[in-house]
Amino acid sequence: MTKVSVFLPSKCFLLCDLCVSALNLLLGYRTEKPRAKGLRIMSQSYETVIGLEVHVQLTTNTKIFCGCSKDFGQATNSQTCPVCLGLPGALPVLNQQVVELAIKTGLATNCQIAPRSIFARKNYFYPDLPKGYQISQYEYPLAEHGHLNVHTANGPKSFRITRAHLEEDTGKLTHINDDGEPYSLVDLNRAGVPLLEIVSEPDMHSVADVRAYSRELRLLLRWIGVTSGDMEKGTMRFEANVSMRPCDSEELGTRVEIKNLNSFKAMERAILYELEKQSETLQKGGKVKQQTLGWNDNESRTFSQRTKEEANDYRYFPEPDLPPLVVDADWLESIRAEMPELPDVVRARYSQTYHLSAEDIERLMEDRSAAQYFEYCLAAASDLNPRVIVNWMLTDLYAWLNQKELAVNKLALSPQAFTELVGFVEDGTVNQTTAKEVLVEMLESGKGAAAIIDKKGLRQISNTDVITSLVREVLEEIVREGRSPKIEPQRRRERKE
Ligand SMILES: [Zn+2]
Repeated sequence: MTKVSVFLPSKCFLLCDLCVSALNLLLGYRTEKPRAKGLRIMSQSYETVIGLEVHVQLTTNTKIFCGCSKDFGQATNSQTCPVCLGLPGALPVLNQQVVELAIKTGLATNCQIAPRSIFARKNYFYPDLPKGYQISQYEYPLAEHGHLNVHTANGPKSFRITRAHLEEDTGKLTHINDDGEPYSLVDLNRAGVPLLEIVSEPDMHSVADVRAYSRELRLLLRWIGVTSGDMEKGTMRFEANVSMRPCDSEELGTRVEIKNLNSFKAMERAILYELEKQSETLQKGGKVKQQTLGWNDNESRTFSQRTKEEANDYRYFPEPDLPPLVVDADWLESIRAEMPELPDVVRARYSQTYHLSAEDIERLMEDRSAAQYFEYCLAAASDLNPRVIVNWMLTDLYAWLNQKELAVNKLALSPQAFTELVGFVEDGTVNQTTAKEVLVEMLESGKGAAAIIDKKGLRQISNTDVITSLVREVLEEIVREGRSPKIEPQRRRERKE
């Protein structure tokens, strides 16, 4: 039986002869003439191949080679100095914290840290690059040969990381078109902001792989505190290399590079668009053109920026104003000693020790301060069931934080106070509904649970002797006043309400 494939963006589909006949009919071909002019079903299955380059802004206070602040959203060109403006004679000085954050990233992504790495000049002219070159590590990067383990919909996968190298960011151009008079404005506040470029091997074979890798990488980098990962402020930007190759081939197909993708959604849409385009080109027997593309999110299409430069075009050479970056064993070990427990280890611990659900674990892991808060709660109230604590955190506490647009690290409520309230629900002092109200009052007023419960008389009575004696008292009062103890149906309804 002949098997024929049809492309869909992320998969190869194999069809039997019957399906092919049906498809050919739909497409207007007769099965006995598969090579007729026009669209035809190819006899070749193709595989999607994607690699990602991720530019990460590091969480320093100052730029990579000068003391300028890298605060986002300041007045244009206000955060500049002779070094980041590229004025003649100004010399760069490497920011030590930048190197330490990059090493942390290298360690967290299982890379080898180079004892000696070199900064180079990448020469090209562009209005947002005042020096006429960008300082970037090239031949000898700080970190290499790593991998990232990721949980995908199809089970665990490991994607190789080629390298992570340091470089400076460029300025920002704003293109204006005033009644057909186009011009561009340059803001150099971003010039010299420290970037770490993390380059993966082309190990991803679907948009789902890209999604899993990029999200896990962001979670990890935020977890170890090397970036805010704030996509809206451009602190993480993606470039995707996309190609297709015959399923039985080891050789990579011609790739396109889609640059400056600023959100997960834009990245996924751009990759899907490009895969559909390539698939169509190959289906028609055409060839994919190697080029660099931009993505227009509003129009949902890629556009050609330029044909791809080769490394030679940049005339890389070692930066003469910076010495080699030397990382000795003591420095490396002192950074390794500061590394927090990594997400995968924490996930395993939460699952095995506390029996939290996978979904709850992922919600806690989104923000390391939330996971830390949870652990402080456990330390404050070791007798409480961890799952009950998490449940209160992820529902009522998160609801209040979301409403106030606050992160967990801005929470004034101490883990001791929070778990005291959870303890009151567990031992029956208050019921769930009352506790929800008490929690809001605690968050708003800063008062403790016990004080609020006592002041408002919210304590739930669960002692049956006390309840029996109260009921007796009420009944005796009714009899004493000559009322009938029988409760009318109408009144019973009122009580229910
Ligand atoms: Zn500066």
